[in-house]
Amino acid sequence: MIQFENVSKQYPDGTLALRQVNLNINKGELFVMIGPSGCGKTTMLKMINRLIERSDGTVRINERPIDEYNIHELRWNIGYVLQQIALFPHMTIAENIAVVPELRKWKSEQIKERVHTLLDMVGLKGTTYSDRKPAELSGGQQQRIGVLRALAADPEIVLMDEPFSALDPISREKLQDDILDIQRQMKKTIVFVTHDIQEAMKLGDRICIMKEGQVLQVGTPEELIQQPANEFVRDFVGSSAPNKSLQPESVGGESMHEIQAASGEKERLSSKFDLESIMSPLSPGHVPKSAKTAVPVSITLPDFVEIMSSHDHLLVERDRQIIGEVSRADLIRYWSEQLQERGEGHE
Ligand code: ADP
Repeated sequence: MIQFENVSKQYPDGTLALRQVNLNINKGELFVMIGPSGCGKTTMLKMINRLIERSDGTVRINERPIDEYNIHELRWNIGYVLQQIALFPHMTIAENIAVVPELRKWKSEQIKERVHTLLDMVGLKGTTYSDRKPAELSGGQQQRIGVLRALAADPEIVLMDEPFSALDPISREKLQDDILDIQRQMKKTIVFVTHDIQEAMKLGDRICIMKEGQVLQVGTPEELIQQPANEFVRDFVGSSAPNKSLQPESVGGESMHEIQAASGEKERLSSKFDLESIMSPLSPGHVPKSAKTAVPVSITLPDFVEIMSSHDHLLVERDRQIIGEVSRADLIRYWSEQLQERGEGHE
């Protein structure tokens, strides 16, 4: 759907940002571009909606070179989400989401329906949320609205440039889950730039690893782990293991095995473990599709650690009702708090 053919970019000051890049992004995939700072990710992304022009080569969308599109027509059809989304402060959330459909002169009924559909997709339909002003929302919630706004006019392609990198880990994880939910329902072609390999592994249908203006490898998360093209890819991807559960070792310097061993010994901690206090509650009826396995809220710590070593996310149930969700990051956080309380932390 999006093709780069021998694309190069040299900035006026001589910086060679991209060197002969060839790439195919498929329709309906969530395609992640990742690599060290300065490797050319943003340059490539902005070439797709012509915010940056190429020095050489061709970029095609639906087989047609992008220069042949009317630039407005091209940009209408491409949603764009930046690291810090600027919502219009005097407008409500619903009005903010509706900006592009309004500009495109959709009928008001159609706009209303679209806004509802989008809010519904992230579990916010029928809440008071849509009538609030941006200042009444947290940074994470504002960013979430920015994502919905980019999708509002139903573009075929959505470009996302480090959209969650300014958020705290919890909001970040929630938005990542939102994106996965949205993607399952809408099947957009999403090009997502990040410098966080764990985020890439969690979200990407395919991941493009870049270095110094060149593409080193494109593949599914599993392919990158199992058949890295070179040492750089191996090292880069190696640091991501926990999110795909392929190697349940180090999570942010902590090791699942260490936690596992420690949790077996430390019965005192197990006895006061309360899963409800570390999970994120879910509103009734909203079950994120990213987690499939449910554990009882009364689970003991050793059992919980055991099951968490092979899952990124779990649902939490009580009396056969899903009441919350919990991620491996929640467990790590809980564990480091326990260690700190007992003076064993590093900080
Ligand atoms: P990334 O998004 O991977 O961090 P960029 O695409 O922003 O990388 O930048 C790629 C390279 O191009 C870097 O060396 C950067 O310094 C350089 N660069 C980006 N924008 C400009 C510009 N407007 N003028 C000159 N050099 C630039």
